[in-house]
Amino acid sequence: TDSTKTALVTGANKGIGYEIAAGLARRGFSVGIGARDEGRREEAVASLRAEGLDVFGVPLDVTDDASVAAAATQLAERGGLDVLVNNAGITGGMPQEPTQVSADQVLAVVDTNVVGVIRVTNALLPLLRQAPSPRIVNVSSTVGSLTLQTAQADAVGPISAAYSPTKSYLNAVTIQYAKELADTNVLINAGCPGFVATDLNGHRGTRTPEQGAAVFLELATLPDGGPSGTFRDETGVQPW
Ligand code: NDP
Repeated sequence: TDSTKTALVTGANKGIGYEIAAGLARRGFSVGIGARDEGRREEAVASLRAEGLDVFGVPLDVTDDASVAAAATQLAERGGLDVLVNNAGITGGMPQEPTQVSADQVLAVVDTNVVGVIRVTNALLPLLRQAPSPRIVNVSSTVGSLTLQTAQADAVGPISAAYSPTKSYLNAVTIQYAKELADTNVLINAGCPGFVATDLNGHRGTRTPEQGAAVFLELATLPDGGPSGTFRDETGVQPW
């Protein structure tokens, strides 16, 4: 039987997700490139394959139940899933001041960054539970750390009332999954990539997507018995 492990990365057509997918494939995983746009998905698959990496396209819009269900079916038919990286995310654009955001704007960001993670995780958990060492990795941010936001308000970015609270919510959800899954072999953790130059921030970030991906590669390949329900960046565990 084929012992190759399979991973799925959501929003893997560009940015940090693309580099997480590349990194996992370089570590021997067969990696599903989850992406909603067919053209961008196939372009990413082709460019990773050109590097000799084992990747395959997975049509996936994390806000769409039917799309998520189809992705789960595709992975089941391929033989299962060992690692899920919930990377897809949006900021919701401007404005981000709490007094200026619209309800629809906030709901859209929550739907992608939080509900999307729950949707995808729950659809894929039956497959993950059958894997020998399942790992779930949530791509979060220290802008979601309530502790850092209040202790070092200047150090963790500008006002972002649509985006940052979704990462606080995602961290909170990560803790709840870890509690429910404590008696299983599933490890679920959240991480922050640092401030990375991607389309998300108009390439104002100071780190490369490859540098940003590193912490998630670590969380995706934690040894059995490793931590679950933690939040960290490259420098170590971070406060909630
Ligand atoms: P990018 O904008 O480069 O990438 C975001 C990815 O998410 C794209 O592939 C995008 O696909 C995908 N995506 C968005 N909505 C959906 C959806 N509904 N279904 C499927 N895919 C979707 O940004 P980053 O690489 O910077 O962001 C990746 C993650 O890292 C996000 O969760 C972000 O919050 C987080 N992060 C980023 C930081 C940074 O400094 N850049 C800092 C901290 C966290 P498409 O091309 O179709 O839009």
